[in-house]
Amino acid sequence: TLSDRLADTFKHLRGKGKLSEADIDATAREIRIALLEADVALPVVKEFVAAVKERARGEEVSGALNPAQQVVKIVNEELVTILGGETRRLRYAKTGPTVIMLAGLQGAGKTTLAAKLALWLKDQDKTPVLVAADLQRPNAVQQLQVNGERVGVPVFAPAPGNGVGDPVAVAREAIEHAKRTLHDVVIIDTAGRLGVDAELMKQAADIRDAVQPDEVLFVVDAMIGQDAVTTAQLFLDGVGYDGVVLTKLDGDARGGAALSIASITGKPVMFASAGEKMTDFDLFHPDRMASRILDMGDMLTLIEQAEKSFDEAESRKAAEKLLETGDFTLDDFLKQMQQIRKLGSMSKIMGMLPGMGQFRDQLENFDEREIDRIQAIIQSMTPAERDNPKIIDGSRRARIAKGSGRQVSDVNQLVDRFFEAKKMMKSMMGGGGVPGMPAIPG
Ligand code: GDP
Ligand code: MG
Repeated sequence: TLSDRLADTFKHLRGKGKLSEADIDATAREIRIALLEADVALPVVKEFVAAVKERARGEEVSGALNPAQQVVKIVNEELVTILGGETRRLRYAKTGPTVIMLAGLQGAGKTTLAAKLALWLKDQDKTPVLVAADLQRPNAVQQLQVNGERVGVPVFAPAPGNGVGDPVAVAREAIEHAKRTLHDVVIIDTAGRLGVDAELMKQAADIRDAVQPDEVLFVVDAMIGQDAVTTAQLFLDGVGYDGVVLTKLDGDARGGAALSIASITGKPVMFASAGEKMTDFDLFHPDRMASRILDMGDMLTLIEQAEKSFDEAESRKAAEKLLETGDFTLDDFLKQMQQIRKLGSMSKIMGMLPGMGQFRDQLENFDEREIDRIQAIIQSMTPAERDNPKIIDGSRRARIAKGSGRQVSDVNQLVDRFFEAKKMMKSMMGGGGVPGMPAIPG
C-alpha cells in the first residue's frame, strides 16, 4: 500500500524531521503510482501530485508526525477537499414538489438508484413518487415499477399500450400528478445508452428544460475508471448536473472515478450506492472515499492519534509551567482558550490539569463561539494591558469594547472571568500544592 511504500521512502530520514526536495520528489512518485492504481485519470493525477508537492514544500516541520505521516496527511486532506469536504445535502424546493432528475449512461445504475433514493427519502418522512421517463428500453418502465414496489413507492408511468410515449410529456405530467396527489419529491428516471449518444443527450436536456429540476444528479458507475472524466464532462456539457452519485462501490473499484469527476467537474459527489439491496445507499463521505483511494485507513488513524497525544502533551506542559510560575496573564488565558478549541472540549483539558476535575461540570457548557469573542476582546488590548489587567480602567474598557466590536459589559465579564481563573490557579498553588503534583519549591 501507499503507506508501506512511503514508510520505505522515509526510512532513511527518521529523526531528521525535515522534508528535502529529493524526499518530496520520491514521495510524489509514490503518490502518483498509488493514484494511478486506484484508477484516477492521468491529468487529474498530475494536477493533484503537483498540488501536494507545492504544499509539502511550504509545510512546517511537525513536532507530532514523522515525515511520511506528514505527507500522507497532506495527501489525505487534499483528497478530502477535492472530493467535496463536507457532504452536500439535497436542496429541497421551497414550494411545490422537489424535482430530482437522474442522468447517466445505460447500466450506470439510475433505475436502481431511483428506488434507493426514494426509500432513503421515505425514511426521512418524505412522500416521493418515481417517474418512468426512460421509454427507450422495452423493460425500463417495468423495471422501475418492480423497484418501486420493493420500496413501497408509487411509480408514475405512461399508460401501457400507448405506443412509444414522449418522455418529456411524461415528466411534465408527473409533476402535475405529484402536485395533485401531494407527493413532495419527484424522482425522474431517464434513458441512457451504453455510449454517449447525441439524441438521448438532447432528450435528457429537453426533460430538464421542461421540468426545471431542483437537482440533476449524474449517476456513474465507480468501476468506469479512466473513462469517468470524458463521460462526466460530456454529460456536464450536454445536460448539466448539480451533483454526482457513485454506484457499484461494493465492487473492487478503489474509487478513483470519484476523484477524477470531482476534480474535473467541480461538482460534489452526494450519494454512494454500494450493492443490489435497496438499503445499500448512503450519503457520500469524502473522508471515507479518500482513505479508500489511498488504501490506508490504519495510517490515518495513527496520524490522528499521534497528533492528539502531541496536542495533549503540549497542553499539559503549558499547564504545568503555569502552575510552577504562577504568572498568569491574559495572553496565557487566550492561549488556554485556543488550546481548548483545538482539543475540542473544555472539559478534556481541564480534566488534564491536576485538581481541575471539580470544575469540569461548570466548564462543560462552554460555548465554542465564546472563544472567538474572547479572542477579539483580548486582541484589542495593548501588551501592557494583557500583562497586567489591573490597569484596565473604565476608559480602557470602553476603548477595548469599541476595538473588538463588543459591549463594555462583555469586556467587564471577561476581565472578571480572568481574575477568577487566576484566583483558581493561585489557590491551587497554595495550601501545600496541587493534589497529585510534586510540591512546588519556594
Ligand atoms: P440504469 O441503466 O442506469 O438504469 O442501471 P440499472 O439501475 O438498471 O442498473 C444496471 C445494473 O447494475 C443492474 O443489474 C443493477 O442491479 C446493477 N446495480 C445498480 N446499482 C448497483 C450497485 O450499487 N451495486 C451493484 N453490485 N450492482 C448495482
Ligand atoms: Mg434504467
